[in-house]
Amino acid sequence: MSFKDNIRKVTPYVAGEQPKVEGKIIKLNTNENPYPPAPGVRKLMDEMRLSDLRLYPNTFAEPLRKELAARYDLKNENIFVGVGSDDVLAMAFLTFFAGEKPVLFPDITYSFYDVWAELFKIPYKRIPLDEEFKININDYKEPNGGIVIANPNAPTGICEPLSFIEEMLKNNPDSLVIVDEAYIDFGGESAVSLLSKYENLLVVQTFSKSRSMAGLRIGFAMGSTEVISAMDAVKNSYNSYTMNYPSQVLGVEAVRDEAYFKETCEKIIATRERSKKELAALGFTFPDSKTNFIFATHKTMRAEDIAAGLRKKNIFVRHFSKPRIDNYLRISIGTDEEMDTVFAVLKEVIHK
Ligand code: PMP
Repeated sequence: MSFKDNIRKVTPYVAGEQPKVEGKIIKLNTNENPYPPAPGVRKLMDEMRLSDLRLYPNTFAEPLRKELAARYDLKNENIFVGVGSDDVLAMAFLTFFAGEKPVLFPDITYSFYDVWAELFKIPYKRIPLDEEFKININDYKEPNGGIVIANPNAPTGICEPLSFIEEMLKNNPDSLVIVDEAYIDFGGESAVSLLSKYENLLVVQTFSKSRSMAGLRIGFAMGSTEVISAMDAVKNSYNSYTMNYPSQVLGVEAVRDEAYFKETCEKIIATRERSKKELAALGFTFPDSKTNFIFATHKTMRAEDIAAGLRKKNIFVRHFSKPRIDNYLRISIGTDEEMDTVFAVLKEVIHK
């Protein structure tokens, strides 16, 4: 027997392409925010003393936890921070899904969930969304070891109301329910308000989309004191200094600028609503999105061919070669100017 037999076999998550094309491109394939982070973040970045980097960062990212606790009306003990919500979600899977019953999540959702389940050897079951890509809540009444719901869901963009999340929690009082709210700030209602009533709830959010800071890798979770301290214990058994110093400092600054946050979210929402009209006029159909992307399929032209046509003009959108969704494109919302270019190129690509 060789050491090679003991190497963990994994099928990794495939991230959206980071194009290597020279010159101007329109990058709408990984749901990044087209606007810069809050002005204070930029200022602090310029001012940051490199000598500060000599020291280890705060292991609990305390200043950032404190700022988030104040913003979401919680206590510091109710906040966990990590290196992007991917890190936070992975820690949550590792912490809470150590049982034998399967963890439940939809068949079409964030494609990292089954990757973590496989990596950590967590039993899981993917429950098909209905024909319209909606979750049927009655499918989540069977015995389970936990539930993971992205709300709004990705890549569909569909957002369930708070009453739906509450019903899910009520139906499953003995399961930890993770609500992944990566896109909640673009028009959905957060489940944070349910935390005071349900101790089996963990709400996960990120700075990568609505706060324009994907490159800094900041994610966080909100939950009961018991739930958060369990996550801290697991994280500190793995790596105590997960979040670097600049991310902690700049993250605080971003949370403080509520006005800028609201302004950029509203700009994206307005561009998204306009994009829905333009795409419909071009023959696309799509579920109603409450995110910073639209998941669209075309009446006559194959998604793959449209993506290839856009690519020739240096416009990148995401196409998933997966069952049920291989005729869809996930188009992130860029600036108004970027979207106008996209619609003009789509006109050429489709009517040729
Ligand atoms: N959850 C969902 C539903 C996502 O689409 C993403 C983005 N890939 C993430 C979590 C992770 O985002 P990040 O690690 O940048 O916070």
